[in-house]
Amino acid sequence: MSEYPKLFFTEEHEMLRQSVREFTEKELAPHAEEWEEARVFPNEVFKRMGELGFLGLHYPEEYGGGGGDYFTNIVLVEELSRCRTGGLPMAIMVQVGMATPPILAFGNDEQKQNYLVPAIKGEKIACLGITEPEAGSDVANLSTYAEKVPGGYKVNGNKIFITNGTRADFMTLVARTEKRKGYKGMSLFLVDTNTPGFVVSRKLDKVGMWSSDTAEIFFEDMFIPDSALLGEEGRGFYNIMWELQGERLIGAAGSVAGAKLTLEGAIQYAKERVQFGRPIIKNQAIAHRIADLQARIDAVQALVYLTAWKYDQGEYPVREISSCKLLAAQLSFDVADEAMQIMGGYGYMMEYEVQRAWRDARLSRIGGGTDEIQREIICTTMGFGL
Ligand SMILES: Cc1cc2nc3c(=O)[nH]c(=O)nc-3n(C[C@H](O)[C@H](O)[C@H](O)COP(=O)(O)OP(=O)(O)OC[C@H]3O[C@@H](n4cnc5c(N)ncnc54)[C@H](O)[C@@H]3O)c2cc1C
Repeated sequence: MSEYPKLFFTEEHEMLRQSVREFTEKELAPHAEEWEEARVFPNEVFKRMGELGFLGLHYPEEYGGGGGDYFTNIVLVEELSRCRTGGLPMAIMVQVGMATPPILAFGNDEQKQNYLVPAIKGEKIACLGITEPEAGSDVANLSTYAEKVPGGYKVNGNKIFITNGTRADFMTLVARTEKRKGYKGMSLFLVDTNTPGFVVSRKLDKVGMWSSDTAEIFFEDMFIPDSALLGEEGRGFYNIMWELQGERLIGAAGSVAGAKLTLEGAIQYAKERVQFGRPIIKNQAIAHRIADLQARIDAVQALVYLTAWKYDQGEYPVREISSCKLLAAQLSFDVADEAMQIMGGYGYMMEYEVQRAWRDARLSRIGGGTDEIQREIICTTMGFGL
């Protein structure tokens, strides 16, 4: 049961929590080692989660979704964090919370039928193509160019760090449609990955998040039809900035959930590990560290839920979302780092899972906008950003 049952979660949310937890514990967690070693979890997981309705919880019923609110996705990410491998929830969140929300928001009915409906069923895997080798934090500087040609666009360029990129069926792509218009000259597209000229050049090797695949992708004279344009031409930057709000908020919810589990593991260990004739948790130096972390978890959790509630009410709380992302990302890594410290040499061994949490959590301070970029956004909302 959540600690916030009445304020943010209904009985339906708690029933959903129970079924996602059962699924995660029975069908995902037992395979964590195997999928970490394989550096990818099987595509069938998308299919199975689609069958269970977990990939469309917040999407309208007319597209095969569950018609739920934003908190259904929060329940999903919180419970998936129990699967013992961070890459899997990340890949699923790319599918449900990053690559497909722009289709519902900006797509026409044909695009919703061709991409959103199969993504909700788990029949199509989605990826999101924003980052480029020369344009990471500086999204407005991206240079992948979709040149207008008769009947469509000819795309040339390069994307990097693309989650689900080696196996996706389609990409929600951000590209430049006007060379000299800065952030105003960008547009969104839906691209089938089997389009000639869509080239997955390599699968990238990462520090953590091993169960998810990450790709570098090239577009070589790739022709896409006019119908691939998602939303209005020239609105791509604004639309992707909108998308990033949801991505950051759901990422923050996942980070807090992961931090809670990691801290629970450390507490358990500190109660059992005996040095100098007593459990190490009896040392105030350790107990107080745990108390500090718990206090931070409580505070960030409350902020994430409150911000999610505002977002669900249709508000656009940019500053609060960046605060959630910044604080939750730092929290999840700090908890993993302190947990490793509490576990001493055992924490540094591959046979204990805290090393995985430590490696996986490090990404949250980088992906979806770095700590520094979140601070910059907060400054901007306060009137003194760059
Ligand atoms: C495992 C993984 C999965 C990812 N998945 C995806 C995906 O599916 N799709 C996608 O499009 N992208 C994805 N990304 C990309 C991710 O969003 C970027 O890595 C991130 O936005 C940062 O960009 P960068 O790596 O180019 O760093 P840079 O922008 O080069 O930043 C380098 C450093 O400089 C700092 N910096 C930059 N500008 C400023 C400034 N103005 N002020 C202060 N400091 C600054 C940054 O904070 C950072 O510390 C993924 C990345 C990883 C590692």
